[in-house]
This record gives sequence, C-alpha cells and structure tokens, in this order.
Amino acid sequence: MSEEHAGRVALVTGGSSGIGRAAAELLAASGAAVAVCGVDADDTEKTAAAIAEAGGRALPVVADVSDPDAVAEAVARTVSEYGGLDVLVTSAGIQRYGTVADTDEKTWDEVFAVNVKGVFLTARAALPHLRRSASGGSVVVVSSVQSRAAQSNVAAYAAAKGALNALVRSMAVDEAPFGVRVNAVCPGSVDTPMLRHSAARFSDGSDEGVRRLLGEWGRSHPIGRIAQPREVAEVIAFLAGTRAGFVTGTDIPVDGGVLAALAVTLPQDTPEPSTTA
Ligand code: NAD
Repeated sequence: MSEEHAGRVALVTGGSSGIGRAAAELLAASGAAVAVCGVDADDTEKTAAAIAEAGGRALPVVADVSDPDAVAEAVARTVSEYGGLDVLVTSAGIQRYGTVADTDEKTWDEVFAVNVKGVFLTARAALPHLRRSASGGSVVVVSSVQSRAAQSNVAAYAAAKGALNALVRSMAVDEAPFGVRVNAVCPGSVDTPMLRHSAARFSDGSDEGVRRLLGEWGRSHPIGRIAQPREVAEVIAFLAGTRAGFVTGTDIPVDGGVLAALAVTLPQDTPEPSTTA
C-alpha cells in the first residue's frame, strides 16, 4: 500500500459505513491519521477499532452533521488529537423518496439539513485548519449522479445533491487562494447499506429480492454492475491527495458510465439532429 497520505490528517463524515467507511479505511491504509465521524457511537467505535486493528491510526468522533456544536466539537477533537487537518471527506447523507407533489416539508428540511447544511457546517468548521495544511488542504464531497441527471421520485435528494455541486464550485473558487482544493464525486449505484435499504423497499424485501434488484440496477449501468464502496474511495483518495494538485471545483462521476449513456441515448422517435449550425 502506498504512503501517499503519510503525515496527513483526514476527517471523514459518514465514516462508519458504506462509501465513507471505505474512504476512511483507504486513507488510513495510505498513511493518514483518520477521524472517523459517525452519528452512531457503536458503529463509529467499531470502524475506528477495525482501522487500528489493520495497522492504521483512527479516532472515533460522534457527531450529527446537522448540529453546528457537535460538528465544531468533532473538528476540534480531531485537531487536538492529531495536531491539524489536511483532508475533509463529507460522506454523511440520507436518501428519502418522493416527488415534489408528495414530499412534506419535514422530509425536505431533513434531507437538506443533513445532505447540504451538514456539508456547509463541516466545511465551515474545517476550513480554518485546512487552510493551514502544509501539504495543501482538500475537501471531497460525496454527491451523486442524481445531482446531474433526473431519476424519478427523489426530488429532495436530487435537489440537495445539485446544491452540493454548486457549493463545491463556490468553495473551490473561494478557497483556491488559501491552497485548499474542493471537489465532489458523483457515484452511481454503490453496494452500501443505503442502497440495500432502497433495494429492500422496492423489492419484496427478501435477500433474494434485494440481490435480484441490485443486479437489475447494476445492468442499467453500462459497466453492467453496481460499484463497490472501495471503487469510489479510490477516487476520493486521489482527489484528497497531492497527485490531484491542479484539480478543483469538479464533480467527477464514478458511475460505471451512467451519465455518459444518458447523454447519447435518444428516444426512438427523436428526429435526427440538424447538421447545419
Ligand atoms: P450509508 O448509509 O452506508 O452511509 C451514510 C452515512 O451517513 C451513515 O454512516 C449514516 O450514519 C450517516 N449519517 C446519516 N445521517 C447523519 C447525520 N445526521 N449526521 C452524521 N452522519 C449521518 O450509505 P452510502 O451509500 O455509503 O452513503 C454515503 C454517501 O454517498 C451519501 O451522501 C449518499 O447520498 C452518497 N451516495 C450513495 C450512493 C449509493 O448508491 N450508495 C450513490 C450516490 C451517492
């Protein structure tokens, strides 16, 4: 394993499961000291313990990302334990279903509180430290393909992820003079508890039903399968590191070709595009 992140400190929200956990594990394996930030104390402790068991440095920090005091405390604990902060990965997120017509305000507010305000609060607390990073601070936000292409029945979630891409561009421009890069990854379907929860909801809920639906969703990606969390973590770790030193303000698909396929798939009765300007 490379030591690309040796001597650096990372804080990963949503770090106790799915994509966040894979990112925390990979950053730790490549030399970073990692604050695993989770909302569930037990999962957070277990993840940090597993990273330590594998030879990495990990600190469990419990925080609800929509709570400004808890977020400030999580960042302060990380800096006090490890002496600074170089990388922030925001993976905490929730998925709620509904069209605008049937989404109640409570659900809309909940999605935005965690998925958008949570990133704002975490970045706001982290930036003063990231600006002091000797190796160049980096923020990687976990967005979604749904920020860039519509899927039915996820209006609040899609709007929140779209807002994140805009926030990433704003932060990238504002923070560039301070040596901090800010990017997003836009995953397609990834085999995590969140996706399995969705698959249980839209199937009969049995193991076989979930397996079959995940397979079906996988076949809707040109690569023909869903991703493993590690495949997203690899791109996160790259963006977090100095090899991506000239990359900022982007939202990079990690989607098995889903967005590319949307761009070229025309309905049968769409007229031929005009070749004249
Ligand atoms: P996951 O459910 O395993 O991870 C989400 C994490 O966020 C969990 O650890 C959960 O405890 C945490 N969380 C939820 N509410 C929180 C709060 N208020 N404060 C702090 N933490 C909170 O699912 P995942 O798929 O790994 O999701 C990670 C990110 O990836 C999310 O932002 C999600 O929107 C995004 N994403 C996932 C997929 C996918 O197919 N799995 C696709 C695109 C984007």
